Amino acid sequence: MRNLNSTKRNGFDFHKDIVNSKKITKNNPGYKPRLVSIENEIKGLYDIYEKNFNGNVLENSTPKGYVDTNKTDLLSLYSYKSKQIQALKTEITTTETNRIINTCQNCTLSEINSFDHVLPKDEYSEFVVNPLNLFPSCTICNSFKGKFWHENGKRKYLNLYLDKLPDKQYLFVDIDYDKETFGLKFYLENRYGIDANLFILIESHYNKLHLLQRFSDNADRVITPLQNKIKPHLKLLSIDQIKDLTIESSNLNRSVFGFNYWESILELSLIDNNDFINTLYL
Ligand SMILES: [Zn+2]
Repeated sequence: MRNLNSTKRNGFDFHKDIVNSKKITKNNPGYKPRLVSIENEIKGLYDIYEKNFNGNVLENSTPKGYVDTNKTDLLSLYSYKSKQIQALKTEITTTETNRIINTCQNCTLSEINSFDHVLPKDEYSEFVVNPLNLFPSCTICNSFKGKFWHENGKRKYLNLYLDKLPDKQYLFVDIDYDKETFGLKFYLENRYGIDANLFILIESHYNKLHLLQRFSDNADRVITPLQNKIKPHLKLLSIDQIKDLTIESSNLNRSVFGFNYWESILELSLIDNNDFINTLYL
């Protein structure tokens, strides 16, 4: 899991571009003029959004409360496959080194195939195509999120544009080897003094998106490749050299994919586990 940079483009211009791309049709001649007629109002709401975004207090946003035709019109502006939305996705998921991140950073498990609306689009239809309100995501995370995104004035999910992830380990895994099977228990712990509020938010995000269980379910995509990567080296290197190299490569991956990237955390725990080392000689 890593932070992503939010877009540098002007959010309201993005909204206007999408409205402008719509055609006046015979079936719904009032659609585009209606959208144009509320543009000034939308501009004001975007300004407030930007202020709350910059202060990382989006939970303080009050919904405008559009209903009926206005709401339907606004919601119809968003289509994941549209040219503008796909261009936004490319911009946000391209790193400084021109690497394309195609994995959902909310979970680091599945591919990106949707945008999460940080403020849910049903409640805040005014921000349905606000680029600061759109975070690339997988549909699994999106479906877990639902409409209950805050409680008692606190957000339940990380906003990976704004909540800076700590360079301290908070994800751990216990390994239990029994009857030739690895039983894994991932857990979160604030062992190294992460800010208490940030840690509560991290816990809530991982719990609501069922990440610990999902990591466990996907563990064999780490265990078997690690065994197969190491085995050919056993003829050439000592086990201590192999351990050192594995630790080094896992840490390199953490610097790219996130300090608490679950695959690296699991690799580091496996290489430190005697039962795992024994399986290399089977
Ligand atoms: Zn996801």
